Amino acid sequence: MRYFGNVEVGRDVGLDELRTMYDAVVLAVGAPLDRPLGIPGSDKAGVIGSAAFVGWYNGHPDFQDLDPDLDTPAVAVIGNGNVAIDVARVLVKTRAEMATSDIVDYALDAVQAGSVTDVYMFGRRGPVEAKFTNVELREMGKLADCVPVIDAAVLPDAVDDPGLSDRDARLKARNLATLKEFTERDRNALPKRVHFEFYAAPVEVLGGDRVEGLRLERTRVADGRAVGTGEFFEVECGLVIPAIGYRSSGIEGVAFDEREGRFVNEDGRIADGLYAVGWAKRGPTGTIATNRPDGQAAAAQIVEDHGSGSDKPGRAALESHLDARGVRRVGYRDWKRIDAAETAAAADPAPRRKLVTLDDMLSLLDAG
Ligand SMILES: Cc1cc2nc3c(=O)[nH]c(=O)nc-3n(C[C@H](O)[C@H](O)[C@H](O)COP(=O)(O)OP(=O)(O)OC[C@H]3O[C@@H](n4cnc5c(N)ncnc54)[C@H](O)[C@@H]3O)c2cc1C
Repeated sequence: MRYFGNVEVGRDVGLDELRTMYDAVVLAVGAPLDRPLGIPGSDKAGVIGSAAFVGWYNGHPDFQDLDPDLDTPAVAVIGNGNVAIDVARVLVKTRAEMATSDIVDYALDAVQAGSVTDVYMFGRRGPVEAKFTNVELREMGKLADCVPVIDAAVLPDAVDDPGLSDRDARLKARNLATLKEFTERDRNALPKRVHFEFYAAPVEVLGGDRVEGLRLERTRVADGRAVGTGEFFEVECGLVIPAIGYRSSGIEGVAFDEREGRFVNEDGRIADGLYAVGWAKRGPTGTIATNRPDGQAAAAQIVEDHGSGSDKPGRAALESHLDARGVRRVGYRDWKRIDAAETAAAADPAPRRKLVTLDDMLSLLDAG
């Protein structure tokens, strides 16, 4: 196994070129871009998709200059999944609560210096349809500075959906019980609040050049879908973070199914010698555990299709190609050195302090 880091397919080597070098090419490119919000006003400054926002606080080199304006009392997070919870909790946790995470210093400092007191989490559908997992949801009730706020009237007495499997019904019941506990909390007990707002579909981002608020329509759920009721309301906020899913950046020459958010494939097979795994194969849903069987399936398919040997040149051709183009590639040992430098630089109890620019990573390697 050889690792070629700092190499981008489409920029440093074409997919067609890779396919002349290797019998099998597996697209494991994920879905790194935000699904667009697609409502009027969503191009205003201060509308920042979760891929960019999460990339910013995680030190992804592409997003270090994002510089979100956190000098606002209220933030609207759109979406009812774990990514929405990830974003909300970073905005309301104390510095001490973040100490065991590897959030980058510039983001932690910006959040702590900001003036956010209220985070609104909007879901188009109801509490039973929400996609949070229970561990993440429960954590929102244990924060040092922040109380969860929810209107008891929107919670049903029990999960009553015959379409759910026993397992899903149990998971939903657990979430419902957690949300019921939240209704007993005093919203003024702590300085910050996360508001769980269900049955609310955003229809317009309000303001001038910058976000000043969000207009939403109340919904009800019919046949599992959110339907507008014609009743509208507005919240003031200085930042809108849609956490409504991801999309692929695509690869030239490979058909992409926009509706499903994945490369067109049949159980991972795209074309002769071309395969997909993970979010590239199934669309942007599921955890690392969900992706693992894809890798095993692709390996089995490759053995089946190409197990009898090959006369393609493989990595020797890729190395010559990258050298001829002057591409600065990094190998697995280099990656291990960056990893070791990051963990060595960590301030206890954080697991690492990340290098956030490609220049810093390469300089570290150049320093020998
Ligand atoms: C905010 C957030 C939090 C999450 N938290 C969890 C969690 O706690 N636990 C969990 O199990 N799952 C979590 N997930 C889900 C998990 O991240 C995905 O299931 C998983 O990353 C998908 O794996 P993948 O291999 O398909 O794509 P990715 O992990 O996204 O990997 C794709 C890789 O391909 C690279 N790439 C893309 N295009 C090119 C190109 N043209 N050339 C070269 N390289 C390219 C990218 O840089 C990237 O390294 C989370 C997801 C998000 C968005």
